[in-house]
Amino acid sequence: MEKIRIRVNGNEVEVSPDKTVLQVLKELGIHVPVLCHYEPLMPQGSCRICVIEDRGVLKTACTTPVEPNMDIKTDTPSVINSRKLVLKLLFSERNHYCMYCEVTGECELQDLGYEFGLDHFEFPTYERRFPVDNSHDFIMIDHNRCVLCRRCVRACSEIAGHYVLGEMERGIDTMIIADMNLPLGSSSCVSCGLCAQVCPTGTIIDKRASYLGRELQSDIIYSNCDLCPVGCGLEIYKKKGANFIIKIYGDWNSDVSYGVLCKVGRFLSLYDNKERVKGIRLKDEFGYRRIHEDDLLSLIKSKLNNAIAYVDGSLFNEELELIRELFKDKVYSIYPTESPIPTNINLKDLDNGSFFVVIGVDLNREYGTVGSFVKRNVIGKKAKLMVVDKGFNSLAKIADYVFNIKDLGLALDILKKEKEIIVIYKSLSKDEGKILESLSNARFLHLPLETNTVGLQKLRIKHDKVSAENVFIFGRNLEGIRDLPIENSFTLIFTPYENNQLYKGDVIVGVNDGFEREGTFYNLEGKKLRKEKVLKPAYDVIDLKTFLSYVLGKTEKVS
Ligand code: SF4
Ligand code: SF4
Ligand code: SF4
Repeated sequence: MEKIRIRVNGNEVEVSPDKTVLQVLKELGIHVPVLCHYEPLMPQGSCRICVIEDRGVLKTACTTPVEPNMDIKTDTPSVINSRKLVLKLLFSERNHYCMYCEVTGECELQDLGYEFGLDHFEFPTYERRFPVDNSHDFIMIDHNRCVLCRRCVRACSEIAGHYVLGEMERGIDTMIIADMNLPLGSSSCVSCGLCAQVCPTGTIIDKRASYLGRELQSDIIYSNCDLCPVGCGLEIYKKKGANFIIKIYGDWNSDVSYGVLCKVGRFLSLYDNKERVKGIRLKDEFGYRRIHEDDLLSLIKSKLNNAIAYVDGSLFNEELELIRELFKDKVYSIYPTESPIPTNINLKDLDNGSFFVVIGVDLNREYGTVGSFVKRNVIGKKAKLMVVDKGFNSLAKIADYVFNIKDLGLALDILKKEKEIIVIYKSLSKDEGKILESLSNARFLHLPLETNTVGLQKLRIKHDKVSAENVFIFGRNLEGIRDLPIENSFTLIFTPYENNQLYKGDVIVGVNDGFEREGTFYNLEGKKLRKEKVLKPAYDVIDLKTFLSYVLGKTEKVS
């Protein structure tokens, strides 16, 4: 593209014509303060903090495209005074007594106050009280801190795809609302938390993170969520020198999720209250008694002959490889691993979809980030949606077509007429698979059952029910034990959580999980992702990977 010539602060420069003034100034290394602007969101130019002067006229840098012969000035008295006046008005409009605010020290409004040297309220402060909405499980909204930048509204719709937030009233009475002014906790909010991540002030806050610490006091660790096979990118704020996580943000640079998270990855992973398996227990005639790690090692050595292993898809590639080596390939998956129709589309391609068919899965409840990708296209770009399910599916209310799964054949006439369709499914019967495979215009995204199901596929670990004298079971999701033929076996179970099936184990060993664990897994697109270890285990548990390495003689220390 041919470049155009403009002047910036007296210097001639050549710039691309498809940029905004703000983008050009940023590339030139010229600082422009912003408040409503936020890089992944569409610019809207409402706060007017970013004004610049062009040939004597003040313009918002974030929404003005560059054009030939511009004469941009970023530091004239008119620019500085205008920005300062806007800021003084913003500080006066609602309650911005920073020392009482949870986000003081990391608030973008406060930062601007320092940048422009505001040391008092120039105008009478507007003392009217706005409500505080504490109805939501994870988020609080204090409307008294709101600067009406609408970042939350844009993030909830443009990026997260949920279209919950909007505004009511006008001028100084404007308020951010959920749905038709419902308390957030009773609204259609799915708790993805993106609004709290982008809010520049202390208005929308993560309740759990409140008063735990500032970003400055945090080590930031980039990782991937391993709570479902999407594998969203995480930006984890761990308190420096402490063994806890303050909060989790979506990583804008993730080439899986591009900043989006669901409730599970952002909030529930930090509210983990499932009971942990601690220590090592051996069953005898009196019940279970604790044994030492050395006794476990001798026991394992005596039981490796005539042994098989069962695993689930929560295990990382490194753990699975060690288990395969230890059990000489006699390793079986507790759950089915096959994809009825293989995936042939990336998550990023969903943004170009014009017709989605979602089968047997409620994307507001599971695989939430995939739900965001679909919803932002269906609601925002008017892509079509067909929901096929056998019961209630909350996506149905935004769908163009809704079918019961047993009527899938009837949907074919509609689907054949489309140029291209994207089929997103969790499981399919053989007949349903055959019907869908007959569509030449379809691309498929399989939502596997477990985080590393694709890893199990790659390692050729198949679902089977095999019995043996000694059975080792490794995994987090152990409901499936009830169907395994292990009644007459000596059974050793390595798992992080208590489960009503654990009584079947002759030996039960507590292992690490969550942020105590590191390793790689393959997500539903087949991308190899890494989960970082962030915390030291707070319980008496073994590190499974280290332990397996020790049993195989690959390391000298057990933990
Ligand atoms: S948590 Fe997510 S869905 Fe709920 S209001 Fe915020 S951005 Fe929207
Ligand atoms: S709640 Fe936060 S993000 Fe939303 S408009 Fe107010 S200040 Fe901006
Ligand atoms: S969609 Fe899956 S991987 Fe992404 S945050 Fe939610 S649970 Fe984690």
